[in-house]
Amino acid sequence: MLEIVKAEGIKMFDKNGKAYIDLISGIGVSNVGHRHPKVIQAVKDQLDKYLHLMVYGEFIQSPQVKLAEALAKTLPSGLDNVYLVNSGSEAVEGAIKLAKRVTGRYEIISFKNAYHGSTTGSLALNGNEYFKQAFRPLMPGIRHLNFNEEEDLEFVTSNTAAVIVESIQGEAGVRVPENNFLKKLRERCLETGALFIADEIQAGFGRTGTFWGFENFGIVPDIVVCAKGMGGGMPIGAFIAPKELMKKLSSNPVLGHITTFGGHPVSCAAALATIDVIQGEKLAEQVPSKEKLFLKLLKHPLIRSVRHKGLMMAVELESFEILKKTIDKAIMKGVLTDWFLFCDKAMRIAPPLVITEEEIKISCDLIVETLDEIQK
Ligand code: PMP
Repeated sequence: MLEIVKAEGIKMFDKNGKAYIDLISGIGVSNVGHRHPKVIQAVKDQLDKYLHLMVYGEFIQSPQVKLAEALAKTLPSGLDNVYLVNSGSEAVEGAIKLAKRVTGRYEIISFKNAYHGSTTGSLALNGNEYFKQAFRPLMPGIRHLNFNEEEDLEFVTSNTAAVIVESIQGEAGVRVPENNFLKKLRERCLETGALFIADEIQAGFGRTGTFWGFENFGIVPDIVVCAKGMGGGMPIGAFIAPKELMKKLSSNPVLGHITTFGGHPVSCAAALATIDVIQGEKLAEQVPSKEKLFLKLLKHPLIRSVRHKGLMMAVELESFEILKKTIDKAIMKGVLTDWFLFCDKAMRIAPPLVITEEEIKISCDLIVETLDEIQK
């Protein structure tokens, strides 16, 4: 196994100084590249001020306040109350708890092949049996519908507290919603009073060419959950909702959600810098042309298709064996790709958004060369 001793931009280096192009961004985390100078500076500045002070709300901590304000500005108006947590799974837990408190209902709708996390609640939402079976019984009251199947939307009813959906399914191997599926889902939620939770943990922070994945589909969710790319490499997550909803999360004697380290000041400083970089360097705006270049260059007889939304790509190969060989051989050539959790023939490509055209060409050449060698 490789030991990485340093990472910078789109590259990681082993102890012999060999460089590896990171085409997966630590699974959608390093959207601004590894150790972006502005993120590093923000972290250093905060280290000189304070680390942890108290659990949520006892003192005003300006990194949290500034981050919440910056996040709200990226979102449609009304989505202005930000609850900061530690991870994607915790953000999902918080959003589900909020939906239960707001609606007084407990049924949650999720989708087949969805991935929402690894804590027992979020695990139960995942739409794949394989990872769940060893941990049953899990959180009850969940129904999994077929993604992209409009007929299934009738199962969203006035008993449903919330529907949680990835705007683009990630671990399923980049499954993009068809036609007006998310719009229809949004309408059904409004009809039934179920809350619409957008899981933006993988698709957010510029990855798909817009700041948030849901922006591609003309909908506004009730609750947004995010993490991964948010911290520019530092651990942080959030669930975000309008104030009228969020204030129902905790009311005496119910403690809504408690998190000792959630919204850690150093992570908040990093996240604030990350938003600044995404916007300042116009990273999301550059995504469509980079996506096009990948699609142009990722051509090979062993590639069946490429599913994609922005720089979230799944390269479908002929078989599991070819996928395994490709990932193993490509890393030896200095390019890191990966699997998806719920898809056994597709190769994950989700590079840092800062990747240049030249670096895309080098990466795709190496992948095509790898496939050539496998085909021989
Ligand atoms: N939701 C989605 C869509 C994800 O991709 C992930 C992580 N792969 C999660 C939730 C869980 O995030 P975390 O690993 O930070 O708990």
